[in-house]
Amino acid sequence: MPPSFLDLTLRGITAHYPRRSCRTGVIAAQAGELKRRFGGWNDPIPGLIGTVSPDHVLHDDVYWIADPLPAYHRGRVALLGDAAHAMTPHLGQGACQAIEDAVVLASAAGPGTPGGPGTPGGPAPDLAAYTSARMRRTRMVADGSYRASRLSGMTSRPAIALRNTGVRLAGRLAPALMIRQLDPIASWTLPINPR
Ligand SMILES: Cc1cc2nc3c(=O)[nH]c(=O)nc-3n(C[C@H](O)[C@H](O)[C@H](O)COP(=O)(O)OP(=O)(O)OC[C@H]3O[C@@H](n4cnc5c(N)ncnc54)[C@H](O)[C@@H]3O)c2cc1C
Repeated sequence: MPPSFLDLTLRGITAHYPRRSCRTGVIAAQAGELKRRFGGWNDPIPGLIGTVSPDHVLHDDVYWIADPLPAYHRGRVALLGDAAHAMTPHLGQGACQAIEDAVVLASAAGPGTPGGPGTPGGPAPDLAAYTSARMRRTRMVADGSYRASRLSGMTSRPAIALRNTGVRLAGRLAPALMIRQLDPIASWTLPINPR
C-alpha cells in the first residue's frame, strides 16, 4: 500500500497531491505548500487558506492496496470496503464500492430469517459468491482510479500541457464520449442472484 499522496484537510476542504512533489514532515511547511499550490485559485480558496494557522492543518497519507487480495472472504469472515480494496481517491469511488459490497453481501448472506444462512446455527452464507461477484468489478474500478491518479499526479510540464489540452479538446469535441467513459461504473445493478 504505497503512501504516495498527501491528504491535507483544513476547515473541511481536502487537498490531495503527489507526495514526491512537496516537502513532508513539517506541518508548517505543508501549510506553505497549500498556499503555494492553491493561493492563486478563485475565491474563497485563497482567503480560507490564509486564515488557517499551520497547526490546524491535518496531514494524512493516502494508502491503497496495490496487489489485489486473493479473495474477500475466508471461512465465515468477509471483508468489504477499504479493508478489501482500498483505492486511490481519484474516481471518488471508494465509499461507493463499499456500499455495493454491502448490498451484495447482504444478498449473498440471505434474508436473516431464524435458522437461515448466516444466523446462529444456520448454514454458512455463500461468501464465495460474494467474492466472485465483487472481485472483478472492484479491481476494474481500483485500476481505473489508479490510472486517473497517474494522470492527475503528473509533474512534467510538457506532459501536463499535453494532458490538459487533450482533456479540454475531448470535453469540447466529444463530451458524450467523455461521459460514457463512466458508464461501466455508473451502470452497476445488483447481480440477480449472487448466491
Ligand atoms: C481524499 C479522499 C477523497 C475521497 N472521496 C471519495 C468520494 O468522493 N466518493 C467515494 O465514494 N469515496 C471517496 N473516498 C474513499 C472513501 O472515503 C473510502 O473508500 C471509504 O470511507 C471506505 O469506507 P470503509 O467503511 O471501508 O472504511 P473507513 O471509512 O476507513 O471506516 C473504517 C472505520 O473503522 C474504524 N476502525 C479501524 N480500526 C478499528 C478497530 N480496531 N476497532 C474499531 N474501529 C476501528 C475506523 O476508525 C473507521 O471509522 C475518498 C477518500 C479520500 C482519502
